[in-house]
Amino acid sequence: MTGGPADGAGWRHGDPASEPGHAWHLDTRILHAAGDRPAAGQPVVPPIVTATSFHVEPEAVGFSAEDLAGEAPLFYARWGNPTVALLEQQLTSLEGGAAAVAFGSGMAAMSALFLTQLAAGDHLVVSDVCYAGVAELARLLPRHGIAVTAVDSTDPAQVAAAVRPGQTRLIHVETPANPTLRLTDLRAVAAIARAHGARLSVDSTLATPVATQPLALGADFVVHSLTKYLCGHGDALGGIVVCGDAGAAATLREQALIHHGAVLSPFSAWLILRGIETLGVRMRQHEANARAVSRFLAGHPAVAQVHWPGLENHPQAALVRNQMAYAGGLLSFAVHGDSRPLARRMAERLRLITYAVSLGKTRSLIFHLPTDDLLRTSFRLEGDAAARFRGLAGTGLFRLSVGLEFADDLIADLDAALAD
Ligand SMILES: *Cc1c(COP(=O)(O)O)cnc(C)c1O
Repeated sequence: MTGGPADGAGWRHGDPASEPGHAWHLDTRILHAAGDRPAAGQPVVPPIVTATSFHVEPEAVGFSAEDLAGEAPLFYARWGNPTVALLEQQLTSLEGGAAAVAFGSGMAAMSALFLTQLAAGDHLVVSDVCYAGVAELARLLPRHGIAVTAVDSTDPAQVAAAVRPGQTRLIHVETPANPTLRLTDLRAVAAIARAHGARLSVDSTLATPVATQPLALGADFVVHSLTKYLCGHGDALGGIVVCGDAGAAATLREQALIHHGAVLSPFSAWLILRGIETLGVRMRQHEANARAVSRFLAGHPAVAQVHWPGLENHPQAALVRNQMAYAGGLLSFAVHGDSRPLARRMAERLRLITYAVSLGKTRSLIFHLPTDDLLRTSFRLEGDAAARFRGLAGTGLFRLSVGLEFADDLIADLDAALAD
């Protein structure tokens, strides 16, 4: 079941494999994932289909999700919706996958993936530093009989050591990781997963398909919070799992989307589709601005460390060059001394950069992540792992999602806030 034919809305994305002549650049596919020009009379912008159900022939569909076949017609909007299907096809094309299933948020996509790929008795290996919600979700799994090991996935040897042959079904990593901006070597971890019959899922929210395409590097699943760079404007929540294998996507749709029910609204899908049209230019400008801002921060006497994949002194610079076409627009930095008074000053003094959570939108956002709180609640790191985190975060990391404002204006804004 694919969510129905996307041309049910009189508008469709073609199969990128059907591109004529030469293969289009990603920048072009972002705008024309449709291989075909719209036929006469078709709208040139995708429509928002709001209907919750669709007229069907009595013989065409069964009533249960279990009866759904590959090419089932549109039926009920929790099963599939034409506007949402366009978004699923767009991400399938950009990630080079077989099929994708969209959800109401990035966390809905993550929980759908975990709960369809893992059952009681199985084992999950997960990055020990990743999006806080995912770290906390992983800690709920043992109550369903799923064993979980959190490891520093920036070191493939630790991933290999954590795998339990015959029991580890899924390895989940986030690269670059929020908020440390450290990478996981996807080729290396994919080889470990393959050698043990486990699958690899990658949260690629920070990279976006413009920078990294994990399926081509050996991953089985790519997860995005569509809420971030893909939407790009901070006005819609969404999530997606792009699968290298169409069967896994069908399972996700039937078991997680239809039964757990965390569907994406067609309005949000439309906003995200619209946001994706400018993904290429936005990511380039985010990167250029992040480069200027990270250089300014690295030279500021109050700043102890800047973490951004594009910095020459990033500890994994070679891997960055190998795995990311762009370094992205998210950076974090630690300051000398206690970071908390500065967080207050930032909230009071910054005029362009908004003190708020989230990331990946046109306007810049900053947020302070106090290390003690993070280690106690989300990450629960101990021993060496906790010491390593403190080594790069100090008392707290400032996570800065560098927006599209003129870079010198952002630098002046930060300079004023960093002054004593
Ligand atoms: C925001 C985010 C999520 C969660 O996505 P929501 O859309 O907020 O549910 C997951 N992973 C990463 C890396 C994120 O930044």
